[in-house]
Amino acid sequence: MAKKIPHRLYLTEEQMPKQWYNLRADMKEQPDPLLNPATLKPVTAEDLYPVFCEELARQELDSTTRYIDIPEEIQEFYKMYRPSPLIRAYNLEKALQTPAKIYFKFEGNNTSGSHKLNSAIAQVYYAKKQGLKGLTTETGAGQWGTALAEACAYYKLPLTVFMVKVSYEQKPFRKTVMQTFGAEIIPSPSNTTIIGKEILKNDPETTGSLGCAISEAVEKAVSTPGYRYVLGSVLNQVLLHQSIIGLEAKTAMEMLDEYPDIVIGCAGGGSNLGGLIAPFMQDKLTGKASPRIIAVEPASCPSFTRGKYAYDFCDTGKVTPLARMYTLGSSFIPSANHAGGLRYHGMSPILSKLYHDGYMEAVAVEQTKVFEAAVFFAKQETILPAPESAHAIRVAIDEAIKCRETGEEKTILFGLTGTGYFDMTAYNAYLSGTMTDYIPSDEDLQKGFDLLPKVDI
Ligand SMILES: *Cc1c(COP(=O)(O)O)cnc(C)c1O
Repeated sequence: MAKKIPHRLYLTEEQMPKQWYNLRADMKEQPDPLLNPATLKPVTAEDLYPVFCEELARQELDSTTRYIDIPEEIQEFYKMYRPSPLIRAYNLEKALQTPAKIYFKFEGNNTSGSHKLNSAIAQVYYAKKQGLKGLTTETGAGQWGTALAEACAYYKLPLTVFMVKVSYEQKPFRKTVMQTFGAEIIPSPSNTTIIGKEILKNDPETTGSLGCAISEAVEKAVSTPGYRYVLGSVLNQVLLHQSIIGLEAKTAMEMLDEYPDIVIGCAGGGSNLGGLIAPFMQDKLTGKASPRIIAVEPASCPSFTRGKYAYDFCDTGKVTPLARMYTLGSSFIPSANHAGGLRYHGMSPILSKLYHDGYMEAVAVEQTKVFEAAVFFAKQETILPAPESAHAIRVAIDEAIKCRETGEEKTILFGLTGTGYFDMTAYNAYLSGTMTDYIPSDEDLQKGFDLLPKVDI
């Protein structure tokens, strides 16, 4: 070994990014615009103001400003839990007997247990600055709701969270954490909104989905004076805020004279992946480097690998703008798999475009294989990963094993988005051998595709 590299590398406060990086500024071709669902014309910032806070609406539509200053107040908040460490997985490498060097960026060192706080604090900051009275949102696994509850408590802004029913039941303590920070939690679909009632009437036994919960949260926001809706993934603004992950990781790797050959991240709506890969994708777009970039999704909700690149609603109730993205259809309700944060029907329009244009790859993995990797990883590295994060671990391990077979000394970087302490039901199902792998049939998926809105592209 030429140089002993520390297990954990933290940037100093001076080295912390002062600006977010907007990947769109370097894309040769832009993602297709969001469309107003009433007119099918590209949305304007004004169209978005009733739903989103104004500064965030502007960020959403800004495809030209390459670097955007992180307001000082947000930088100060970040200092409470950032920088997150870049960790060299020496023990994992040893256990796998691989010549590959494996690094991961660990985002689980805060109470929300995930990277979601990076965008939550930014979104609440802008809402507060605009003088809003409260916010609504949805949460799947609960990490976004928790992060937003923390941020809203910090800025003393009321918050209503529509929590996907299956998670509400599987993760009762998540609910209590959010309530501790003062948020109101409603299991979705619920009887508190018109859309929720309608969904329940059609399917009283439904376990809910992110798409349903988004519809309810948007309805509540637009029908309550001074309220706005915020979303924890998919949107361009969220990828922008999450670029802090990649910017920190790249600086840390530069300090080690390292550059990844492969960058791997799990993909739900695409925010952690979009954030992690941002500066590496910049190198790829500008011809400076050419790392492989791999998105990992669950085989039960395979938006990239089996979805259609089409205009679709971001929610089940069809109240949001239309986005062109890889989608399973907004009516698709995935099986109750255990990675709640990856059960979304669509995918970030930015990542969808990059995938469509061949800048990145995608792999779908089954959940028993994911938990096998999670348990193996936990034993080597002592971190109990979130099921979502374990998707990335699975593929990082698979790539490291390939290196063992070929003898290649590749440098692998993956995103460890969070911890899995609230996922003991899932770990228990895996350990007791009752976990199953559900893969939707082509017919199941066709039902979702049949209901895609008809939009000429
Ligand atoms: C929400 C979440 C994800 C997936 O969301 P993205 O927007 O795709 O990043 C992944 N991991 C964890 C721990 C999460 O909480």
